[in-house]
This record gives sequence, structure tokens and C-alpha cells, in this order.
Amino acid sequence: MEINLKNKVAIVTGAASGIGLAIAERFSAEGAKVVLSDVQKEKGVLSAERINGLFIEGDLSQRADCKNLVDKTVEEYGTVHILVNNAGFQHIAPLENFSEDIWDKMVSVMLTAPFLLTRYAWPHLKKQQWGRVINMGSVLSVRASAYKACYSTVKHGLLGLTRVTALEGGPLGITAHTICPSYVRTPLFENQIADQASERGMTEEEVVEKVIIEPTALKRLLEPNEVAALILFLCHDEASALTGAPVMIDAGMSSG
Ligand code: NAD
Repeated sequence: MEINLKNKVAIVTGAASGIGLAIAERFSAEGAKVVLSDVQKEKGVLSAERINGLFIEGDLSQRADCKNLVDKTVEEYGTVHILVNNAGFQHIAPLENFSEDIWDKMVSVMLTAPFLLTRYAWPHLKKQQWGRVINMGSVLSVRASAYKACYSTVKHGLLGLTRVTALEGGPLGITAHTICPSYVRTPLFENQIADQASERGMTEEEVVEKVIIEPTALKRLLEPNEVAALILFLCHDEASALTGAPVMIDAGMSSG
């Protein structure tokens, strides 16, 4: 199916790496004007140059940076049509040792920033009576994992934010989605294996086999471009009946 994003302006957060970068690349290939945002400046600038996008540096734990991202996008391109709230990170620790500072930061980057960015983009989405708000959840939006207290919490929280966005956005031509992937081959995935091994008392190979691969029906990881392809479909007008519900792309993990 051809999905032409030629006149669409898309913001993708966490776009210097992994899934966000794959989404930015795919949007750009379909003709969208893509704004890549990330706290990693060097990688973000290089990626933006490569796909002819605009890089806006920002630490999404800072409210002013969230505001700046939407303001600068509108200054440059006049509006925003698609907002992909994707930036995130992982922290593995048992509840009793879970750092309170990391908890606060995860909540601000992975739950408060999606709310703020949606709020700042809203007048533009509303004015044009068309919008897509895509929140990057996880299979941990619908189930939980030991040692991931905050990650599981914020990913569940995105479901609530998405549902409200869908209800308020429906009459305005705005749809909202929580994308729920299982493990995807990215730095966020790779960087957690050692910590999971140490908390679970397993080798790294055992974590990959028993915790990550075995619980999926397909017995494999996802690739970032598979998630990007799904998101591209959700931006098509033929996907306008989909809104509010969690969109699972989890290799069958939540079926077990
Ligand atoms: P990644 O580490 O490759 O990319 C995450 C990006 O977010 C990085 O470029 C990072 O710099 C950016 N980021 C982190 N903190 C930031 C901040 N304060 N301000 C701005 N940018 C910030 O990881 P990924 O796997 O591509 O993750 C992207 C999203 O997908 C995350 O929300 C993650 O929770 C979700 N997800 C990942 C997996 C997986 O297995 N990789 C599975 C399900 C969901």
C-alpha cells in the first residue's frame, strides 16, 4: 500500500537511535517533513542530515525543552501533524533498591513529556482537524516484569493518556495509539541484558533464551523497521478507524 506523507510534518522523539531512528527514516522516505529530537546531539545531527530532516536537541525531562520542540517545529514548518512520543530508557533494579531519582526521571521523560508534547501540539492538530498521536508503549503496557517497576508503570500509564487523547481527539480527526512491542533489537535492549542476568542469577545467554526469546510465539526479536512499518500504516487515512486501543506488535508474547 502506498502511504504518501508528502504534506505531513512529523515529530519523532528519541530519534537518534533504535526504533525512533527507524520511524524517522521511514517517514522521510514517504515524503514527510521530519523533526528528529533527542538528547544525543551528535548522533541526532548526523541522522537528520542523512535523511534530510531537522534535528532539535532536547532533554525531555525538561518542560522548556518539550515546549521548544513544538515551538521550533511550528516556526520551521507551520504546523505538526504526527507526534511520535518514543524517547525512553530502561532501568533494572529490584523495588527495594530502585533509585528514587531514576524513578522521577523516567516518569518525566516517558510519561510527562508525552502529555506535554501532546498538549503543545494539540492546537495545531485541532486546527487542521487531522492528527496522529503515537505513544511508544511496550508489551509491558499490558503486563509487568520483575525488576522493571518504573518502566512497567510508565508504559501502563501511556495507555491511560492514549485513551483520553483518543476520546478527546476523535471528534477532531485526531487518532491516538499505544504501540506495544516485545523486545526489539536496539541499544536499549542490548544494554539491559547484563543487569537482567545479575538480578535474575542467570548468564546473559540464559536471559536472551529464557526471558526474551522463549516467551514469544515466533521465538525471535523484533527489528526496528517492523515497528516503523506498523506506525506508518497508522498514519494512513485508511487506518482512521483505529484509535485508543493498545496496538500489539509482540511476536505473540502476550498470548501466553
Ligand atoms: P534506544 O536507546 O535505541 O533509543 C531511545 C532514544 O531515546 C535514545 O536515542 C535516547 O538518547 C533517547 N532519550 C533517552 N532519554 C532522553 C531524554 N531525556 N530526552 C530526549 N531523548 C532521550 O531505545 P529503543 O529501543 O529504540 O527505544 C525507543 C522506545 O521504544 C522507548 O520508549 C522504549 O521503551 C520502547 N520500547 C523498546 C523496546 C526494545 O526492546 N528495544 C521494546 C518495547 C518498547
